[in-house]
Amino acid sequence: MKSIDKPKQFAHDLCEWYRENKRDLPFRKSRDPYRIFLSELMLQQTQISTMLPYYERFIGRFPDVKSLADASLDEVLKYWEGLGYYSRARYIHESAQMIVREFDGQFPRELKTIESLKGVGRYTARAIHSIAYDEPSVAVDGNVMRVMSRVLLFDGEIKQTKNMRHIESILDNVIVHERPSDFTQALMELGALVCKKRPDCEVCPLKDKCFAYKLDKQDAYPVVSKAKPKTEHHYHVFVVRHQNRYLLRRRPSHGLLANMHEFPQYESSYETALETLQNEFSLSIAAVHSLGTQKHVFSHKVWTMQAYEVVLKRPVDGLVNLENYPNAMSKAHHKIIEKIKEKGLPPWNH
Ligand code: SF4
Repeated sequence: MKSIDKPKQFAHDLCEWYRENKRDLPFRKSRDPYRIFLSELMLQQTQISTMLPYYERFIGRFPDVKSLADASLDEVLKYWEGLGYYSRARYIHESAQMIVREFDGQFPRELKTIESLKGVGRYTARAIHSIAYDEPSVAVDGNVMRVMSRVLLFDGEIKQTKNMRHIESILDNVIVHERPSDFTQALMELGALVCKKRPDCEVCPLKDKCFAYKLDKQDAYPVVSKAKPKTEHHYHVFVVRHQNRYLLRRRPSHGLLANMHEFPQYESSYETALETLQNEFSLSIAAVHSLGTQKHVFSHKVWTMQAYEVVLKRPVDGLVNLENYPNAMSKAHHKIIEKIKEKGLPPWNH
């Protein structure tokens, strides 16, 4: 592994490039830690182009910590609808309430306190600390690891914590030579625009310092171990309806898609699933029709959902109007709603 010979020059060249080439992103215009917090959480698992309209809409409705803390979780989830990974919305909401309750509505300034907020890990806390407060906290994520692995011919596995800490400690000696806010964003921007999976080295401000470039070894870095295969789950999903109203239930308050509403679904044989459904909701069923199969891929699992329309003889508790129903359902079950519309079930039968 190589070292950075001239950290001051390195920081300067990187930040000069950033100041001339940075994208005009709405959340980068402000030093408001709340907006930076929101943008960082929205960007986890989501591309900037996808996230931008959600960010604008969310900020339009919840422009500060107080407005978010005062809102109901259902409304917050509604504004998050379609962005996926809903635990992020719950974390942001909980954090806003914590800031109002414990810090008198002022976003915390100390790194440790920022890291104590819900949904904030080491990277996000350091990103907020450096971008909002110009503190020299290096934020290292997969993008930064990709860049620095190439620059330094670092052959440690980039997802390992000890390797991330090692790169962080190297950059601790570099960030101090520039404005931390620019430095953090410059590394993010370089990883996003130039040192991508297929790097565009000719326009890179670090090419005269990058050993992978000098030795033509860009393809050998970073070192990434193979991802674990996703686990497969097969569900029978029951779209239970009485006339134009549908039966929803709420998922548990922790784990995947916590608190989201969903059609009842069971991971068992069809017969057992139908029996469980009847027992859980005391249904009197008039007819069952297949609605076909849908797949939904999460970061670590795949759901295959065999959906059925279950027509009731009489109504039961928990039936809602899907069209007006204000609570968020997961992207996975939005795919089932698409099936319902496709088949022209009520109220989409006109
Ligand atoms: S020169 Fe190429 S490989 Fe090296 S940091 Fe720049 S873009 Fe990445």
